[in-house]
Amino acid sequence: MSAARVVGLECLRCSALFEGAAIFTGCPRCRDRGVAASLSVKLDLSPLHGLTTDAFPATPRSLWRYRALMPVTAHPVSLGEGATPLVHLERLGRRLGFPRLYAKDESQNPTWSYKDRLCSVAVTHAVWRARRRRRAGR
Ligand SMILES: [Zn+2]
Repeated sequence: MSAARVVGLECLRCSALFEGAAIFTGCPRCRDRGVAASLSVKLDLSPLHGLTTDAFPATPRSLWRYRALMPVTAHPVSLGEGATPLVHLERLGRRLGFPRLYAKDESQNPTWSYKDRLCSVAVTHAVWRARRRRRAGR
C-alpha cells in the first residue's frame, strides 16, 4: 500500500507553497505584509488512488490503523489515540428532527481531545526528524 507524500507547507491565506521547509512561525510572505497566517501540510494523495476501506488492517484500534494515509513512516508514538466510538444521540436527534444524529465520543482519547490524534502524528514526525538529524551529525 502506498502512502501519501508531503509536497510542502502551504499558506492558508495566500496559498504560497514552501517545499521541504521546516517553518514553525506561519507564512513568511504574509508576515512580511503584517498578517499572521498559518501553514498547512500539502499532500500528494495520488498514490492513494483506488484505495478502499478494505485495504486497512483491523488493528491497531487507533488512528494508526490508517497509517497508509499519512506521510509518516516512523514507528508511531501513540497512547492509543483515535478509534473513538460514535454515540447515537437518539433523544436530541428526535427533538431536532434528525433521527440519525451521532457524535464522536472524544473522551475516549488520552486527554479527551480530538487534538490527541494530531499530537501523536506530530510527535512521531518530530522523533523521526530528530533521529535523522542525529544520524546525519547535525
Ligand atoms: Zn501567506
